[in-house]
Amino acid sequence: MRFEDQRDIMVQEQLLARGISDIKVINAFLKVPRELFVTEKWLEFTYMDHPLQIGCEQTISQPYMVAVMMELLELQATDKVLEIGTGCGYVTALLAEIVSEVFTIERIEELLLSAKSLLKELEYNNIYFKCGDGSVGWVNVLPSVSGFDKIIVSAGSPGRPDLLLKQLKEGGKLVIPQGTRSFQELIVYEKKNGNIIENKHGGCVFVPLIGKDGWDD
Ligand code: SAM
Repeated sequence: MRFEDQRDIMVQEQLLARGISDIKVINAFLKVPRELFVTEKWLEFTYMDHPLQIGCEQTISQPYMVAVMMELLELQATDKVLEIGTGCGYVTALLAEIVSEVFTIERIEELLLSAKSLLKELEYNNIYFKCGDGSVGWVNVLPSVSGFDKIIVSAGSPGRPDLLLKQLKEGGKLVIPQGTRSFQELIVYEKKNGNIIENKHGGCVFVPLIGKDGWDD
C-alpha cells in the first residue's frame, strides 16, 4: 500500500478513533511524510502503532503518544515552541506545520545533524537547531524570544523540570513524561498568574532525559 494511504489509515485508526480532535494536529499528521524520518531497516513499519528505533539507541515515538502531547499543548499559529529531544525530527516537522517558530535541542550530534539536513531539505524555514543538554532549556536564545509559549519534552525526566518552567511564558504550557527511567506519567504544567499548575495524563514510556536536570548518562 502507498505510504500516503497508510498515513490516512494511521490518522483514522490510531488518532481520530482514539479521540484526537485538534484539527491542526490531525492536518499536520496527514501532511508530514513519516516514512522520510524512519531508517531503511524499519521502513515497512513506519505507520505502525508503536515507537521505532532511529539509531544511537533512541526512538521515534508512537504516533498516538505524539498526538496526545501536541493536543494537550493547545498549539496556536503564533506560538514559539521549545522542543527537547529532536531525535529524527518528525515531531519537529509536525510542530513546524502548526506554530510560528520551533526551537529544538538534541544532545546527540549525529541525530541533530541528520534531522537538520532532512528538515532543511523539506524547506522548513521556521526551525532553530541546537546540539546540547536541553534539560536546562535554551539559554540566550534569539533576543526576540523572551520565553516560550509551549515546551514539549520527548524524553523521560526524573522530576519537575524547574529550569524549563523558568523559560515558559505566563499562560504557557509544558508537557513532559516524568517518573523512573523505565516508566513515566505524562504531566502538563501550566503557568497561570505566576503559579504552576500540574495535571497528570496517564502512563507512558520514553527514553531517559539525560542531563543536568535529568538522569546521569
Ligand atoms: N521526537 C523525536 C522524534 O520525532 O524522533 C523522538 C525523541 S526520542 C523519544 C528522545 C530524544 O531525546 C532522543 O533523541 C535523545 O537523544 C534526546 N535527549 C535525551 N536527553 C536529552 C537532553 N538532555 N537534551 C536534548 N535531547 C535529549
